[in-house]
Amino acid sequence: MLTDPLERLGRTGGLSYLDLVRRRSIGGRTPGELAIPDAVVVPADPGQVQRVLEVCVSHDVAVVPFGGGTSVVGGVTALRGDKHAVIALDLARLDELVSVDPVSRIAVLGAGVRGPDAERLLAAHGLTLGHVPQSFERATIGGFAATRSAGQASSGYGRFEDMVSGVRVATPRGDWRLGVAPASAAGPDLRQLAVGSEGTLGVITEVALRVRPVPAVRRFEGFVLDGWERGSSAMRRLAQSGALADVTRLSDVDETEVSLALNAGWKTLLLRRYLAARGVRTPCLLVLGWEGASKREIASRRKKTVALLREFGAVGLGSSPGEAWERGRFSGPRQRDALLDAGVCVETLETAAHWSKLDRLRDEVRSALRGALGTPIVMCHISHAYETGASLYFTVLAARDDADPIGQWERAKRAACEAITGGPLGTISHHHAVGVDHARYLRAEIGDLGVDVLRAAKSAVDPTGILNPGKLLPAEDS
Ligand SMILES: Cc1cc2nc3c(=O)[nH]c(=O)nc-3n(C[C@H](O)[C@H](O)[C@H](O)COP(=O)(O)OP(=O)(O)OC[C@H]3O[C@@H](n4cnc5c(N)ncnc54)[C@H](O)[C@@H]3O)c2cc1C
Repeated sequence: MLTDPLERLGRTGGLSYLDLVRRRSIGGRTPGELAIPDAVVVPADPGQVQRVLEVCVSHDVAVVPFGGGTSVVGGVTALRGDKHAVIALDLARLDELVSVDPVSRIAVLGAGVRGPDAERLLAAHGLTLGHVPQSFERATIGGFAATRSAGQASSGYGRFEDMVSGVRVATPRGDWRLGVAPASAAGPDLRQLAVGSEGTLGVITEVALRVRPVPAVRRFEGFVLDGWERGSSAMRRLAQSGALADVTRLSDVDETEVSLALNAGWKTLLLRRYLAARGVRTPCLLVLGWEGASKREIASRRKKTVALLREFGAVGLGSSPGEAWERGRFSGPRQRDALLDAGVCVETLETAAHWSKLDRLRDEVRSALRGALGTPIVMCHISHAYETGASLYFTVLAARDDADPIGQWERAKRAACEAITGGPLGTISHHHAVGVDHARYLRAEIGDLGVDVLRAAKSAVDPTGILNPGKLLPAEDS
């Protein structure tokens, strides 16, 4: 057990805008406002995790499971609820490849294995997970499972929950293992209750995952489409025709402007002229990435995709924009720090909706953010598409109100969440999860009965309520 102040401060919250504002003491926030765990416990194996939970039950101590600490919704904030103490339960030492079944293509990984380590361990067996979210460098297998994460190549490899074949969960009521077969009709799929439970129903200690052979060939390239509506229609057509590339990402006009300025530099003007000559006046950048066993396999998939894109007037830009995106795919957090230094309020939020509601949802979220923030820059992209709909990911930049940065954020967040849940048009989270920030909106999505079902499950596995208080479930009186 670690009680050193630096160790405790290191597990104080995640990487949300609020976390960063509080840590930097912007707007006169004091360190006293940080929810600092009383201790950090770093168990070495699933048995020790189980033992820690037993001790915490007997001493009535709250437990916050801590993976990579990349939560952007307050998921790892060290809230103690009605408990007199709280620990951060850091899974970092559960960092092994537990087993590999190459015949079934299943690998069991410890919950604390980080993204790059998972790929390194699997590559030794010629395998890959293919789960590459923007937080890949720090986030963990347990965190991916606990938050139903979606990686940048989700069109090809699926969301994280699609990869989960089994889970091992330490709960205050004992060790729980789920997932014995590739498919089952033995009642509801309880694996999916553990997946997405955000540390409120147990501590995930091991995850059995569907893995695939390491691709021999990768190809990234860029296209532009004229205007958002045409772009999103093209995305829908690709998704409904089985022609999505593994990475398929459409930026709106504002995001495209920024991305061209950052990547094309002085060539932007020439590019604009070229696009205008090809009839594209409001360019929306589409980045596509394919992974496969051979050039021939990729060429055949690409042919189908490009043929459909031509029907929407897409103009090919070659490999540079795709490769530039791939090089910078993890740079978001660094850019965010630089913007914070420059006095900018910078936040991202995401949702998903059915195709028939997608454009309206985008318009409503954008106008809600404008109403709350004045004249922000609001950029949007689709990076996860399905037959029935797609995700929307917004990046918002505004002049920071240094007198009340948290109040400013709260007003904008409330406006955006109400636009999403009003109707409802979309989900409160496509992949960032619920945490603290979205808990009050969960009821609008799953109903009173849904909240009661989750509470009943929690009281079955965690009767004294030690696990991650204040996350996922809305407060009783909300
Ligand atoms: C810059 C940036 C980019 C991001 N990009 C993406 C993206 O592309 N796709 C995406 O899906 N998400 C993204 N996220 C969000 C975040 O990275 C994901 O939610 C990720 O899955 C969290 O993993 P983690 O290991 O960091 O979990 P943590 O942040 O440590 O924890 C997240 C939640 O899960 C719980 N938890 C963690 N480990 C366990 C466990 N073993 N058992 C039970 N509960 C546990 C925690 O208590 C917490 O509630 C991004 C975040 C940042 C900061």
